[in-house]
Amino acid sequence: MKKTAFQKYRRLFSAALGLMLTAPPVSADEFPACLARLRAQAVQRGIAPATFDTHAARLQPDLSVLELLDTQPEFTTPVWDYLAALVDDERVDDGRAMLERWRDVLQKVEKRYGVDPATVVAVWGVESNYGRSLGKRPLLISLGTLACMGRRQNYFRGEFLDLLKIIDEGHIPPERLTGSWAGAFGQTQFMPSTFLRLAADFDGDGRRDLVDNAADALASTANFLRRGGWKSGETWGFEVRLPAGFDTSLAGRRNKRPMSTWAARGVKLADGGPLPDGGPDRALVLPAGAKGPAFLTGKNFDVIYGYNAAESYALAIAHLSDRLRGGGAFRTPWPTDDPGLSRAGRRELQRLLIARGHDIGEADGMIGAKSRRAIAQEQEALGRKADGRASSWILETLRKAEEGK
Ligand code: CA
Repeated sequence: MKKTAFQKYRRLFSAALGLMLTAPPVSADEFPACLARLRAQAVQRGIAPATFDTHAARLQPDLSVLELLDTQPEFTTPVWDYLAALVDDERVDDGRAMLERWRDVLQKVEKRYGVDPATVVAVWGVESNYGRSLGKRPLLISLGTLACMGRRQNYFRGEFLDLLKIIDEGHIPPERLTGSWAGAFGQTQFMPSTFLRLAADFDGDGRRDLVDNAADALASTANFLRRGGWKSGETWGFEVRLPAGFDTSLAGRRNKRPMSTWAARGVKLADGGPLPDGGPDRALVLPAGAKGPAFLTGKNFDVIYGYNAAESYALAIAHLSDRLRGGGAFRTPWPTDDPGLSRAGRRELQRLLIARGHDIGEADGMIGAKSRRAIAQEQEALGRKADGRASSWILETLRKAEEGK
């Protein structure tokens, strides 16, 4: 979905923060010449000249994507805020309805790719809210702009040419190709290069349509996970409980050890029971440090991580898949006295902010810059740290103020 792709790229690019300051100047005047060079490269790749001339030759750059490319995260979002919105009751209920609705397709997908329905549907739910949030920016314009301007032209040139290939092969009508500013699109939020490598034509109509065909999208997600090394029948991991004074230097997603090692160190199942004997090696993942929920993860957690390189997102997908199978919330609470908000809570908070005169657009549950500014103003007026965080405390405080009117 928009947010995940956005976050994904912000993360990727924040590593290049130093480079940003020395980025070459860009000029819209050079854009037509750049497009002409891209046309030659497209033709070299076997894309029909007519495809380029029809869909790309007259593109105008969208400079706003360059701003997004260079936006530094204003603050880091705590993992419990991500989880609260990505795995809320609404998404669990919607996901269970989708499991039911797409049961036949999901069974066939599992047979062909070896990935279970709950995992596939959980990825779908986190990436695009089950196909409802695909991103609205025209991909040709965004990727064309990024291919000719800004700091990562080489990378985006490849994605732009791959996008033209997708159009040239007739998989998806060009007007349906919208997505995140950075080029992730469709119900799977694949980049064009990922599409060409891994998208599947599940219904056999000759087109790999990840925008309007849910069966193609579900199969493509499963194909992505299978190609990443998914182990059929194995769990991604499970919550555990650490003994007091546990040496957290053993933690880390790559630091896999035999179950017996963890048992010997006093690690227990979340309900206090003993760890199972044997099985594959597992890593200890502590998303919020030693005082928050702890997890023993395996290969499949890494495969999910490969879909969206952030532990918080991998955990959201993994946890949502457990909830879809009937599992409950984590046993150990997050180490905060001010929990994050579900999307319903975020919408209510936004409605309260609007009622108090803040101009934040509509109450869509997406906490953007305007919502954060409004929250920060309210926090400041209340004598709290003005971090702009959409949290339970500010929601309850504004709710009481509204009731007291
Ligand atoms: Ca198809």
